[in-house]
Amino acid sequence: MNDLSPSPSPEIDATCERAPVQRKPDWIRVKAPVSREYGKTRDLMRGLGLNTVCEEAACPNIGECWTKKHATVMILGDVCTRACAFCNVKTGMPRKVDLSEPGHVAEAAAKLGLEHIVITSVDRDDLPDGGAGQFVKVIEELRKNTPNTTIEILTPDFRGKMRAAVEAIVAAGPDVYNHNLETVPRLYPTIRPGARYYASLRLLEEVKAHNPLIFTKSGVMLGLGEQRLEVHQVMDDMRSAQIDFLTMGQYLRPTPKHAEVMEYVTPAAFAAYGAIARAKGFLQVAASPLTRSSYHAGDDFAQMRAAREAKLAKAAARG
Ligand code: SF4
Repeated sequence: MNDLSPSPSPEIDATCERAPVQRKPDWIRVKAPVSREYGKTRDLMRGLGLNTVCEEAACPNIGECWTKKHATVMILGDVCTRACAFCNVKTGMPRKVDLSEPGHVAEAAAKLGLEHIVITSVDRDDLPDGGAGQFVKVIEELRKNTPNTTIEILTPDFRGKMRAAVEAIVAAGPDVYNHNLETVPRLYPTIRPGARYYASLRLLEEVKAHNPLIFTKSGVMLGLGEQRLEVHQVMDDMRSAQIDFLTMGQYLRPTPKHAEVMEYVTPAAFAAYGAIARAKGFLQVAASPLTRSSYHAGDDFAQMRAAREAKLAKAAARG
């Protein structure tokens, strides 16, 4: 077997059962968060009553990111109306929407001096607009108070309310619109049971249809039992939906109640997937075991913007 081969099998076999893997490999181990800057980021978020996906999702990169003052704010509370098998966020009946939250997000961005901010949310199927209005208010507050901060949003699928939600959010003008496909369609019934693969793809297409200048981004977790050709198919589906930026990272099991890790994908296999994705035409690709949607999001955004400008300049030169 070629050691760049991400999967031992070239065939898609939906009946193929892999045994769960127990031990974390060395490349997954990360340093404990101990720096003074980490403490300052944590205190600021707590002081403003903001939730972060960094903490709620038990992200392995929190030590590195918070030391650099990069935190991903999770709006609309810390209780989600879905129960995905991979996600550590609490499930249940969420509280009322916090009207002071958009102002607090803008205050955090100003105090941290952020050039780029990532905002995500829990699923709010209980709200008539799915929470889209709160995304709009956050974007508006950021534009007003920190006009030089570029804005990346990572939204839920707004099941049953997608068209109106996307229209409203796109009109508010984020720089990057991210929505994760999370895994291959075959695994949706067990891993993402409340969502539909093609509805998520459609959402990202809809963003481009409303405003082709907004960068679109999506990600998948690897190690859930997906096979190589299934991942390639997801890449093709994403390119058909004109998605600009693909992220791929290793799934890590937050607690024994969550889906098991079926495979620790090697760094070399991630590199191979990344090379294939670039060949398929994504403007930007991030693929490594510790890649997360928001990991190095600011630097990646700058690179993606430069890649688009270079592509446009090349096209103009050709006439
Ligand atoms: S990768 Fe994203 S979620 Fe994880 S700590 Fe960094 S900013 Fe937070």
